Amino acid sequence: MSANQLFARHALLPGGWQDDVLLEWDDAGNLTSVRPGAEPGARVVDYVLPGMVNLHSHAFQRAMAGLAEKAGDTQDSFWTWRELMYRFAGRITPEQMEAVAAQLHAECLRHGYTSICEFHYVQRDPDGELYANPAETALRIAQAARRTGIGLTMLPVMYSYAGFGEQPLTPGQRRFRTDPELVLRIVEALEKQRGPQIEVGAAPHSLRAASAGQLRELVAGLPACRPLHIHIAEQQLEVEQCMEALGARPVDYLMNQVEVDQRWCLVHATHLSDRETAALAASGAVAGLCPTTEGNLGDGLFPLTPYIAAGGVFGIGSDSHVSQSPVEELRWLEYGQRLVRQQRNVAVDGACRDVGTYLWQQALRGGARASGRAVGSLEAGRRADLLVLDSAHPNLDGVDAGEVLGRFLFCGNDNLVRDVLAGGQWVVRDGRHVDQDAIARNYTQAVRALRERSQP
Ligand code: ZN
Repeated sequence: MSANQLFARHALLPGGWQDDVLLEWDDAGNLTSVRPGAEPGARVVDYVLPGMVNLHSHAFQRAMAGLAEKAGDTQDSFWTWRELMYRFAGRITPEQMEAVAAQLHAECLRHGYTSICEFHYVQRDPDGELYANPAETALRIAQAARRTGIGLTMLPVMYSYAGFGEQPLTPGQRRFRTDPELVLRIVEALEKQRGPQIEVGAAPHSLRAASAGQLRELVAGLPACRPLHIHIAEQQLEVEQCMEALGARPVDYLMNQVEVDQRWCLVHATHLSDRETAALAASGAVAGLCPTTEGNLGDGLFPLTPYIAAGGVFGIGSDSHVSQSPVEELRWLEYGQRLVRQQRNVAVDGACRDVGTYLWQQALRGGARASGRAVGSLEAGRRADLLVLDSAHPNLDGVDAGEVLGRFLFCGNDNLVRDVLAGGQWVVRDGRHVDQDAIARNYTQAVRALRERSQP
């Protein structure tokens, strides 16, 4: 019996659930064969899903998740939350960043994410100077990903301005300062990291923080086919300021300045006109939805129903890491739509009427595209990224395969992910990351030091 085999009584393949599936992978972590109707000749498990892609992360924010939940004297908003975030970002060291990222990655793996896209903007030292290696902090995130086994798409961020109209950066933003030339240098410094588990793209932070000329320069300088991510239309105020400064709504403006295609992931894209919704769907770009963060920050709700109807591609991300679970992300995505529409079972299409299956498959499709990596489905040639669910849990006892995702996404809060294979390595067994205790010790030490230094 080869170690690189698994027999699933039920596995979710690109076309839906299949029975008696023998999965095989090579030592490089790529699936070599996925065969339904096979004979059990390997370790036998009941339910197997493809691992999910977390398409939007700022790893350091894991350290402040849950600390911004007290009301201040004025109306709290995204913009007051951002002040706390700047205090953390101003002080964190590269070592602390690595410790926090490792904890985050291990948690994400335990909950079913096998890939993550890091939108990485804390790139200078606390004084705003470059590190000896300009990719120092990015390499720390890559190191955390290697240690934990999660697949990574590293996106060094271009961040030049404090607001529309090319406003100069504030002192709180000094660690973020980059321009196209520096981002491309960081990308170059990361080239050696690239491989089946790590891809490198780039991310203009937002239309607030980058000019149109810079956008074009970055796109022209980045190697072809690499992923490009941008925050867009997250807040109403941002849309209003964009219209005032640039004369167009954000997605309209972006699409007028650069060719937005399958390379692009538009993160949030919360506030869209009907025309923008249709144009984004037609572009092939991914809408990067982060429902728990968008809920936490009071952003608003993405127009999911018309976007699905127009054939749009979407994925999910945990962004500020108030949650590390794709279950919670997808549950909120669906529930937000139910609440605002006063309807049930919203996220479906003509071909797939099961909400859980539709959400999981579509988030895989969008997440894989946004990651620029060969992930997102159980097929030969893709990465061996899969989840074994806990079929001994009462929620899954004896259920038909077609009901598994409904139970997984919409019933209770126990983590039903038992074992996780990422890039052909078993990194979670019986619900625990294989290096969980040491990673958690490093994390708690780092966060204690960081919180002491972050008192205002
Ligand atoms: Zn973000």
